[in-house]
Amino acid sequence: MRPFGTTIFAEMSALAVRTGSVNLGQGFPDTDGPTAMLDAAAAAIRGGRNQYPPGPGVPELRTAVSAHQKAFWGLDYDPDGEILVTAGATEAIAATILALCEPGDEVVCFEPYYDSYAASIALAGAVRRPVTLRVVDGRYAFDPAELRAAFGPRTRLVLLNSPHNPTGKVFTAEDLAQVAALCAEFGAYAVTDEVYEHLVFTDAAAAHVPLAGLPGMRDRTVQISSAGKTFSCTGWKVGWVCGPRPLVSAVTRVKQFLTYVNAGPLQPAVAVALNSPPSYYEQVRDDLQCKRDRLCEGLTEAGFAVLRPEGTYFVTADITPLGGTDGVEFCLALPERCGVVAVPTQVFYDNVDAGRRLVRFAFCKRDEVLDEAVTRLRRL
Ligand code: PMP
Ligand code: GLN
Repeated sequence: MRPFGTTIFAEMSALAVRTGSVNLGQGFPDTDGPTAMLDAAAAAIRGGRNQYPPGPGVPELRTAVSAHQKAFWGLDYDPDGEILVTAGATEAIAATILALCEPGDEVVCFEPYYDSYAASIALAGAVRRPVTLRVVDGRYAFDPAELRAAFGPRTRLVLLNSPHNPTGKVFTAEDLAQVAALCAEFGAYAVTDEVYEHLVFTDAAAAHVPLAGLPGMRDRTVQISSAGKTFSCTGWKVGWVCGPRPLVSAVTRVKQFLTYVNAGPLQPAVAVALNSPPSYYEQVRDDLQCKRDRLCEGLTEAGFAVLRPEGTYFVTADITPLGGTDGVEFCLALPERCGVVAVPTQVFYDNVDAGRRLVRFAFCKRDEVLDEAVTRLRRL
């Protein structure tokens, strides 16, 4: 694990604290989630639910995850055996890769990739095969030939994050069909990271479609999500895995020796949140869409070349018009120059040149915080 050092998120948040900067680096909201969820957590703590929950997670959360999957995506998962509660999506991803990969197996992923993917693949002794997302006509896209070339006889799984952090890309039906066809052809599993499933903006080219819903994919897909983003509780680390029984059983085998169980009193509270009416989810999306537009306009005025995201709460911006040539240098200097923290996207690539001039800003912040950041950035 030596090459992995400290995560960029911890590093940049520490830099923000040290320099008193506005932190648009690490993606965490600065307001709380639904009151009913917070009250339910407090009641669970006061009500004696403070010991180990059952291994797969508390029944009411597994039932709520199952109902949510059915209601939003039309997918059926049995709360008994096809759903596992995990310590955030991060543990779900790690446990799934450790469960499914033998040393030397290959994992196809799209770069820029979420940082824990590379680390979890390394922990399993597996090998990553990145496919680069590049900007074509104002949208991030992959080359189908490059995707096909990444698959081979050692391919064990493909790791797909949509909506995608950090680019904000929402994979289209055509993108998904290509991934599904290659999984079938090469006998690979799919692991889908859908933590931003509810954050697809109304002007996106595609709606969110779980890969597991495509013909033939349910039996070969492990679907992962988490409460952190949708319910503004990133510190709770409550996530879940849904999939066919044999795969969920394999993931459970690993999870039980990583954490055994987690977040006992928070699990029933997340069940309450998941049972929110559809209007809750729409409100979260609409609020973030306004924030996206607010920050994108501000960044454009400040001189960045902005790529408006279709989903997630991140925007990537090119620093070239501001004279920048390297995102790491740029982000390390930014607190000194104007008191703002962003994340250099190049650390999420193997092919560093593809992301060298890109930086990521998070817009899951109060309007006054976004406005202050923009005021500062306009000094550049
Ligand atoms: N996947 C992606 C794409 C993310 O952005 C994040 C950060 N929330 C995670 C996984 C980790 O989620 P969690 O905090 O639930 O572990
Ligand atoms: N998912 C968050 C982001 O992308 C950070 C999570 C973390 O710090 N590990 O910024």
